[in-house]
Amino acid sequence: HILDSQPVIRQLDDAAINRIAAGEVVERPASAVKELVENALDAGATRIDVTVADGGKTLIRVADDGCGITPEALPLALSRHATSKIDGTDLLNIHSFGFRGEALPSLGAVGRLSLTSRAKGHDAAEVRVSGGQLGEVKPAALNKGTVVELRDLFYATPARLKFLRTDRAEMQAVSDVVKRLAMAEPHVGFTLRDASGASGKGGDARVTFRADPETGDLFDALHGRLASILGREFAENALAIDATRDGIRMTGYAALPTYSRGAAVAQFLFVNGRPVKDKLLTGALRAAYFDFLSRDRHPAAALFLDCDPHLVDVNVHPAKSEVRFRDPGTARGLIVSGLRHALAEAGHRASTTVAG
Ligand code: ADP
Ligand code: MG
Repeated sequence: HILDSQPVIRQLDDAAINRIAAGEVVERPASAVKELVENALDAGATRIDVTVADGGKTLIRVADDGCGITPEALPLALSRHATSKIDGTDLLNIHSFGFRGEALPSLGAVGRLSLTSRAKGHDAAEVRVSGGQLGEVKPAALNKGTVVELRDLFYATPARLKFLRTDRAEMQAVSDVVKRLAMAEPHVGFTLRDASGASGKGGDARVTFRADPETGDLFDALHGRLASILGREFAENALAIDATRDGIRMTGYAALPTYSRGAAVAQFLFVNGRPVKDKLLTGALRAAYFDFLSRDRHPAAALFLDCDPHLVDVNVHPAKSEVRFRDPGTARGLIVSGLRHALAEAGHRASTTVAG
């Protein structure tokens, strides 16, 4: 292969760089919702309202009552690799959902974004980005917190738009994301509203996960949250789990084998509060139930592994849904032995009840 001219090496401009990064971070509406809700949680919100129209293709709005952003900092929040969450010295000491400073600039590169915010002691202000072009910071009206509105996702990249599934399927994915994060933060109130009705298409379906400030206990709060997300039946058939091994603690709820499902649809795993989809962990879950379930059944569980952040690397993938344990054997062993123990004990209790 012979080139007919000498290639020219160019430095890409910020808009191009953001579009490229956005390809990894924003795959579909649900990934935008995930980034925005995570930002709201990082901001200490106690209430998060998500509104979506047409499966998120025309509108995604996330409003929170968190700490907000000062007017001066608004442009920075929209610039690449700018974050308030780490100082860059220790990438293995991450306590927030975000740390890459990529979500907002990426979203601004693939949709029409407006960011309105009010920090304590400051006036509310707003800035817009469209096609990667940052507008001016303008005064706005907002009581507290932050509202991010993303319209016309992928309008400038028809190839991406074509890969999206039906509005219904995209809405389902958005709802799954909200549910996972709502499980991770049972003390935070969430609403998810489908505003497609305005454009004449969909209903105005609403899911609400109320925060219960009365219950201080995290186990109770989680149990209540799981009941509203996975259903009463799950909650009534779930065993409370609390086990520790070599610096990793596993808490949460695992369903009795009798409540198993035909598909692996009710398996929710979290590492240091972050929802993860991890083959190692789901494999361990399956192994734990091996003796209790027939091969075509799948366990249902919501399990939280917590450990010192230094024992796990979350900087594996831009979407941050994969993790790497320093000692994967410990995590696996904890899940397998912790669940087996709980299941055996429950079985033992059940059989002695029947016998008595
Ligand atoms: P990251 O979350 O990785 O820091 P983002 O691009 O998602 O990167 O956000 C950039 C910065 O903007 C955050 O570090 C935070 O300071 C600010 N920010 C974003 N969303 C919110 C929000 N909902 N409330 C308060 N601050 C926010
Ligand atoms: Mg973020």
